[in-house]
Amino acid sequence: MLLHHHFAELGYEFYAHTQIQPLQAQRLVEFNESLAQELGIDFSDEFVQRQLSGQEAVDGALSMVYAGHQFGGFTPRLGDGRGVLLGEVKDNLGVLHDLHVKGAGKTPFSRQGDGRAVLRSSIREYFASEAMHGLGIPTSRALALYDSTQAVYRERPETGAMLIRTAKTHIRFGHFEYFFAHKKYDELQQLIDYTLDTYFSHLKEDAQPIQSMLIEIVQRTARMIAKWQSVGFQHGVMNTDNFSILGETIDYGPYGFMEDFNERWICNHSDYEGRYAFHRQPGIGLWNLNCLMFAFSKHFSREELIEILKHYEPCLQSHYDELMAEKLGLANTVELEPLLEQLFSLLRKEHVDFTIFFRFLSLFEADKPEFLMDEVVDRKAMADWLNYYWSVRNDGRDQQAVSKQMQRVNPKFILRNYLAHQAIEAAESGNYLPFRQLLKVLSSPYDEHPESEALAKRAPDWGRHLEVSCSS
Ligand code: AMP
Ligand code: MG
Ligand code: MG
Repeated sequence: MLLHHHFAELGYEFYAHTQIQPLQAQRLVEFNESLAQELGIDFSDEFVQRQLSGQEAVDGALSMVYAGHQFGGFTPRLGDGRGVLLGEVKDNLGVLHDLHVKGAGKTPFSRQGDGRAVLRSSIREYFASEAMHGLGIPTSRALALYDSTQAVYRERPETGAMLIRTAKTHIRFGHFEYFFAHKKYDELQQLIDYTLDTYFSHLKEDAQPIQSMLIEIVQRTARMIAKWQSVGFQHGVMNTDNFSILGETIDYGPYGFMEDFNERWICNHSDYEGRYAFHRQPGIGLWNLNCLMFAFSKHFSREELIEILKHYEPCLQSHYDELMAEKLGLANTVELEPLLEQLFSLLRKEHVDFTIFFRFLSLFEADKPEFLMDEVVDRKAMADWLNYYWSVRNDGRDQQAVSKQMQRVNPKFILRNYLAHQAIEAAESGNYLPFRQLLKVLSSPYDEHPESEALAKRAPDWGRHLEVSCSS
């Protein structure tokens, strides 16, 4: 298998040829066999391994140029500062997937950076992407992880690492912003045509294919964020250079999964103003789409772009309502709003764990409410809510079947920050067993894993306030 990506045909305004610069004593420590199978990648093939790990040059390997709005401000030129696009492969269904290496060394877009990634952040990305996949949320995936003996300097010297990931595309909102901001309108058109041909070919016969494509991007983004909100995921760095045009979650940095319920939670310690706080994510999604639309100002009038953006809110709201109704086991969304409002106010006041609550609720029986009441101090408030809830849910359907279905949408296992922290510490000292054990439950989070029961528990005191920040 010779790796190649047809993005290379776009020409040098779009990228720079870049090869992986392997790390000192680079060592393959994890490989995602089931993903490799889906993608038809034969990892036992020595040549494939050598291409993926940088021991063999890949003709046409490249780092992409793009721009982006970072924490609200526009940076006209970013690009893959430590990433290399190696090639693309088709899965069993004929869908294309990019192969991309993160932490591959300096590129022409590295700016002040060292082009490297540390083991800590590479493991965090591995966990997050596989956890999101396990939860059924479109995401980049982790294919392989390498560690090394090379020191990479952050706040302290850390272990250098490389992650090979796949995603349906690495084209970001920021790609379009780049060409528009630099008035490279021919290239912008080339990129639009490429994107339509490659990823939106089903829209090419539409009367207005570009408009249809933008509407689909708006809807995919809305659905992605609705899903984040339904599982308590916070991205942490929702810059437009971290937003895929296919509505997949990409570029995991200082993300978090909600533990104690708090809508105003800010997972990224470098996000001083809480711009990307949990409850702000839906609004930021629209803000980012607005930036994307601006890059199409040569194609559409302001009014037309606003019409496209109007698809966002109803799409996000209806998908979110659907997901939350499923989590509650409701047959419809008639009582959803008051039920959620009362519930969230209770969970917030009582610092109840979001995941544990919904999992317990899936197992709830009207005559045995105690185990849910034990989660709170104000037992009367919980009893009142449960009564109201049961009066809505118990509408004549087979409640055992409802409970079963709820367990398929309310995970038992979520990526708790302290668990990631423990697995990383062990990996840094060469023990990858905790990493693998956690990975296993995250990849099927709705199932019982009796041997890993402890991984479903809330954090002990020491693990409740661990900080994550942008340094990765
Ligand atoms: P992020 O928000 O982490 O996705 O990164 C923002 C930009 O900084 C992207 O263009 C990255 O490629 C670049 N970047 C991040 N870390 C490094 C690094 N260690 N070396 C070079 N570039 C980096
Ligand atoms: Mg990024
Ligand atoms: Mg509590």
